[in-house]
Amino acid sequence: MTNLPGIVITGASGRMGQMLIKTVQASDKARLVGVVDRPGHDWIGHDVGECMGGAALGVAVSDDPLEVFAHAQAVIDFTSPAATVEFAGLAAQARAVHVIGTTGMSEDDLKKIAAAARHATVIRAGNMSLGVNLLVQLTKKVAAALDEDFDIEVIEAHHNKKVDAPSGTALMLGEAAAEGRGVVLDNVSDRGRDGITGAREKGHIGFSAIRGGDIVGEHDVLFAAVGERVVLRHVATDRAIFARGALKAALWGQGKGPGEYDMVDVLGL
Ligand code: NAD
Repeated sequence: MTNLPGIVITGASGRMGQMLIKTVQASDKARLVGVVDRPGHDWIGHDVGECMGGAALGVAVSDDPLEVFAHAQAVIDFTSPAATVEFAGLAAQARAVHVIGTTGMSEDDLKKIAAAARHATVIRAGNMSLGVNLLVQLTKKVAAALDEDFDIEVIEAHHNKKVDAPSGTALMLGEAAAEGRGVVLDNVSDRGRDGITGAREKGHIGFSAIRGGDIVGEHDVLFAAVGERVVLRHVATDRAIFARGALKAALWGQGKGPGEYDMVDVLGL
């Protein structure tokens, strides 16, 4: 079935990389044409199926993204900000759709990705699951309906290997709450409270991060007023939800014009 879109997975050895490889392999709508990891990684040059402890897949792990991207219709990328910025330029050069799940990007990184998206189809989301993207829409609606008597707090929990905080998803939820309220998140965001902070400021949006064990990802948006609370919650128990969303995005992006899209576009929410 060589006419199926060819997919490259970057960060092959990572938690999400391995899940993405399994998801593409199991799909009848796409085929795995290459996998990439960082130069010097143990897996480079070896069959990725065997590296993952299973049967050979006939795909060797490469440290040469440009060569591998040339065979791809889409690159699915859950790595690190520095790698993702580099891959955005290379995917644009290869005319492959770039699906970005990497979080923790700086303003400067985002500018570079926006520049690549002038010539390429980029789909980027801090969370690729259907449930979280629905939660984003709900958060916007609830924030628009409730006034500043309701304090908004975003609480997230993740595994103990996660390197960035708040999570990309928490920031998406904070942005949605700010948009619903008609304010700019940067002007009202409270992050990392510690010590004698003073009373909570009315209208602010707070963030708290919990890290421990193997938690895949949990997010609460709390609207707390005097005498009542509303809590919107998403609990991820399996990384497969992010991988399925990312593959859906890669297929959706085929034939789309240049630009930066997100999962709300992909899911038509
Ligand atoms: P991980 O540390 O397990 O994996 C990262 C992988 O990237 C590793 O294989 C590493 O070797 C590889 N890598 C790093 N630099 C590279 C380079 N220059 N070239 C090629 N490969 C490189 O991390 P993870 O848990 O899989 O998460 C990866 C990213 O995805 C994080 O930013 C995380 O927050 C994000 N994430 C997003 C979603 C979503 O739905 N958007 C869901 C889960 C995780």
